[in-house]
Amino acid sequence: MVVRAADQGQWPDPDVDKRKFGPVDATSLQDKAPEPVAALRRIAFLLERTRAETYRVKAFRSAAATLLTLDPDELASRGENRTLRELPGIGSVTEEVIGESLAGRVPAYLRRLEEEAAGPLTEGGEQFRAALRGDLHCHSDWSDGGSPIEEMAFTAIEVGHDYLVLTDHSPRLKVARGLSAERLTRQLGVVDAVNGHLGDEFRLLRGIEVDILDDGGLDQTDELLGQLDLVVASVHSKLRMDRAAMTRRMVAAVADRHSNVLGHCTGRLITGGRGTRAQSEFDARTVFKACAEHLVAVEINSRPERRDPPDELIHLALEAGCLFSIDSDAHAPGQLDFLDYGCSRAQDLDIPKDRVVNTWPVDRLLDWSKGNVRT
Ligand SMILES: [Zn+2]
Ligand SMILES: [Zn+2]
Repeated sequence: MVVRAADQGQWPDPDVDKRKFGPVDATSLQDKAPEPVAALRRIAFLLERTRAETYRVKAFRSAAATLLTLDPDELASRGENRTLRELPGIGSVTEEVIGESLAGRVPAYLRRLEEEAAGPLTEGGEQFRAALRGDLHCHSDWSDGGSPIEEMAFTAIEVGHDYLVLTDHSPRLKVARGLSAERLTRQLGVVDAVNGHLGDEFRLLRGIEVDILDDGGLDQTDELLGQLDLVVASVHSKLRMDRAAMTRRMVAAVADRHSNVLGHCTGRLITGGRGTRAQSEFDARTVFKACAEHLVAVEINSRPERRDPPDELIHLALEAGCLFSIDSDAHAPGQLDFLDYGCSRAQDLDIPKDRVVNTWPVDRLLDWSKGNVRT
């Protein structure tokens, strides 16, 4: 079992541990060398946002996790004696990075990545990106994400968000280690604990990406869904259902009082290692009419292999008067930057900013998601 810092009450206090842990950004790197943990995290972030292979990223994340548990004196002496590799999770490349950073230099590996991988991920969308205050869809290692909850939250702060909704999967998605009611209940406690360490400027919100069942029901108890700040409802199974049945299924899910966002509505995959998948068939006008009626936002899923919904469906959702959310669906911290892709599309398609719910301040967002307002 992976031991998580927040479970153990070891999550670093950002005020006390800022020097050791970060935050790190490109500007801070220009004039001084980052602390070793910050350097490793920044490398992992840059690799993730440019979709490097998982194993490459993992080396840096594991090394950072090891250093976080290390006493600063031991780190210094091990750096000097070159015995860092005796520790779990540290190999030759990461030892080199740590050594350079302990010596007060910007590690060469990091310097190269800053040149190659730190720029905008795509053209356009800058105004939208600047207007976004948060992200409503991401995963941690509690389901099929790669990093602990606190790492997702910390990175969300570093990319400039005011809030991040943690939306791990629901029980039926077993391949993604969907959370049972019991595990979700436990996770809510961890979310509270993480928030307790993050100050007032940022909120980690309680959420779920809940599976839409075959009959349009949602794959979690009513009581638990009612405790959450926000619910993303998505179809992950039987994507080839016939058009009429799929339409009924999606309309029923959208009409559920707990639903706030309709996730990646067509399920299509257009590129990438998972192959391609055609979009589901449904009557988009009817589904989007239901979204508009129930104030459910249509998600613009930013993952490059999804680009979901396609442009023509976004036009229909605009006509229907829908709200939207531009989400990263990040499964790793660096993927929180995938929002660049969704923002570029939103700007191209002339979506009015105020109809994108994650441009709203957190209080307005929560009033909407908890059903307290009729916009
Ligand atoms: Zn999904
Ligand atoms: Zn997701």
